[in-house]
Amino acid sequence: MAALWSSVASPARPTVKKESLPALIMESIVLFGPPGAGKGTQAQRIMESTGLPQVSTGDMLRAAVAAGTPTGIEAKKYMDAGQLVPDEVIIDLIKDRIQEDDASNGVMFDGFPRTIPQAEALSTITAVSHVVAIEVPDERIVERICGRYTCADCSAVFHDTFNPTTKEGVCDSCGSSNFKRRADDNADTVMSRLNAYHEQTSPLAAWYDSKGIFFRIDGDRDIDSITQDILTTLE
Ligand code: AMP
Repeated sequence: MAALWSSVASPARPTVKKESLPALIMESIVLFGPPGAGKGTQAQRIMESTGLPQVSTGDMLRAAVAAGTPTGIEAKKYMDAGQLVPDEVIIDLIKDRIQEDDASNGVMFDGFPRTIPQAEALSTITAVSHVVAIEVPDERIVERICGRYTCADCSAVFHDTFNPTTKEGVCDSCGSSNFKRRADDNADTVMSRLNAYHEQTSPLAAWYDSKGIFFRIDGDRDIDSITQDILTTLE
């Protein structure tokens, strides 16, 4: 993992795709955990240290929904219900994304894989060096998800109570005053999302543990301490 520590800024996402899938030469990281664990927040914080671009299937799906693509139209009904989008849709998205030039040294997955078939597919696409689980008890998830909002311009993540902007209504990262809240960040949907996590995603912990690449981090602490622990784990 030493090569990841050069503090390389994440390059801009190119639009040109390679002709074929790359061989298993990359080492990627998976940020694992329940919805609202802080995977997106931590991914943004450690992106620069690792030099790996964040690949969030949730963000990709929301972009597809906003663009009204066939994938977005199909995904929306599952997302609105707090259910997982079918594996084949997700795996196709990842196969495409991993071919982009900025992924050639691996990526930092956020919210993927979420099922054993997704993890099996991933193992044929890119090597994974670390699966970092950010652990937060269920009873903390609802309050964390329901107060969450992001900058509409730079995607920085904030929270009404736990991580508000320093100046009210102004993004700390880019100064924008445009903020948005996710349609599925509500008390109704969060229970379905948590059920999906426990039933379909949490079995992956044992799967990755058996491979010796699973690392647990206590995610119920201040944001800086969690970032520090993740960086130490990746060292
Ligand atoms: P997230 O932003 O990661 O919380 O994802 C939001 C929603 O997108 C989830 O509740 C699922 O409906 C869908 N989703 C995101 N990633 C995946 C995935 N890897 N597998 C299946 N569904 C996903």
